[in-house]
Amino acid sequence: MADQMDKIVALAKRRGFIYPGSELYGGLANTYDYGPVGTELLRNIKNLWWDTFVHRRTDIVGLDASLISHQQVWEASGHTSGFSDALLDCKNCKRRIRADHLIEDFLENNVGELRAESFKPVKISEDELENAITTKKVEGWSEEKMEEIISLLEIQCPSCEKLDWTGVRKFNLLFPVHLGIVEGDQDLAYLRGETAQGMFVNFENVINSTRVRLPFGIAQLGKSFRNEVTLGNSVFRTIEFEQGEIEYFFDPENEEWEKLFESWKESMWKFATKSLGIREENLRWRLHGDEERSFYSKQTVDLEYKFPFGFKELWGLGYRTDYDLKQHIKHSGKELYIVDPKTNKKVTPHVIEPAVGINRLFLMVLADAYHEEGERVVLRIDPKIAPYKIAIFPLLANKEQLVGKAKELFETLRAEFTCTFDERGNIGKRYLYQDEIGTPWCVTVDFDSLEDHAVTVRDRDTTEQVRVPMTELSSYFSKKLAK
Ligand code: ATP
Repeated sequence: MADQMDKIVALAKRRGFIYPGSELYGGLANTYDYGPVGTELLRNIKNLWWDTFVHRRTDIVGLDASLISHQQVWEASGHTSGFSDALLDCKNCKRRIRADHLIEDFLENNVGELRAESFKPVKISEDELENAITTKKVEGWSEEKMEEIISLLEIQCPSCEKLDWTGVRKFNLLFPVHLGIVEGDQDLAYLRGETAQGMFVNFENVINSTRVRLPFGIAQLGKSFRNEVTLGNSVFRTIEFEQGEIEYFFDPENEEWEKLFESWKESMWKFATKSLGIREENLRWRLHGDEERSFYSKQTVDLEYKFPFGFKELWGLGYRTDYDLKQHIKHSGKELYIVDPKTNKKVTPHVIEPAVGINRLFLMVLADAYHEEGERVVLRIDPKIAPYKIAIFPLLANKEQLVGKAKELFETLRAEFTCTFDERGNIGKRYLYQDEIGTPWCVTVDFDSLEDHAVTVRDRDTTEQVRVPMTELSSYFSKKLAK
């Protein structure tokens, strides 16, 4: 399956979805740039997310907070002290790696070969070792325990295959920034590590400036930054990424959190399968155990997608109680509440948070859409989010009448649909190119079109061709897209 990932990455570069970041200067680890078709796809996913969770709901409002925020925001949220990864370095080749990833990949690759009873751990209990071997998860483990399992299992460096590690140490993921406009201690700020804090910091502003009533959500779509060291897997894990987060506020005395939680699970599942068109068999839920879950969270589940490199977290859903608002009350010294109009009671609400990485949605869409059919590579992207809906071709590039007619048609259709125009090479090659960028329909203007005012419409998925009168094209595509 790793092979499949290489093919997807190669296609993404070849056709302008994703390029490695700063490539001209040898690249910059864990950064990527989106090319012309990638940008369209990314925007379409973002717009669909916003449309679904903000525009089509009456209980959610949007927010666009600053990327750089006050150091105290991150102290209150716990990020300056607790937002860290346990890392270790290979003394031989200098590779730096996340300890949990090193261990979990090893457990995954050695399924069935490890017996807990053959080891004599000291800091890890026998049950914990047994559990790690069966679940292949060590999230929430201390640095000491991770160090011990690495040495017990003799886990080598994946780059140079030596067993020569430094100890496991915590590294904070936040990016500090130093501001030029303030002096002293206050010049330190942070690039945000998640968008969620923007919703808590602006809670009072939103209450005072809008008509919201509990339960309600504040949604945000924007960049977050984390100093990640894990390499590979394209845009799955990057230091700069786009998050789509919602803080859904409610009064636990009036709402059953279990019901709200379930309804959020349904919305997330529906978005992945119906809106993005992902195959259900490639998705699953994973409930966090006590060790993995943050201490303030009552329940956390991850929606996972079966990437070519295994099932991985796509979208997290957590019931965070009133922890965040209470933290900001404590650190800012301000009261944060909403008044219940029926009882006049001041409520500091609880929150359920669905948080997704848009770039992970993007990679999932590419992986799920990638199909090889003989010579043909086709991206079966759901037409709603395909970079271009229609490609318009003149049969021959050197026949002025055909080119003129095709351009006229292009101008008409692009007023309604995202279209692209191509006159290079033969028709067969143009079809293959559009298949690789996931364009659902190709329209060819040929000599007959000049007489019968109809065109050939070729379907990406079936490769079937039908003749459609030019005047009916708009309703023909509108109907197809409404499906
Ligand atoms: P992971 O365990 O994979 O590091 P996380 O549990 O730390 O993720 P959250 O803090 O819950 O992630 O962030 C919400 C979502 O943001 C994740 O489900 C994921 O889709 C996305 N995300 C988190 N970190 C990254 C990253 N470095 N690059 C791309 N997307 C990310």
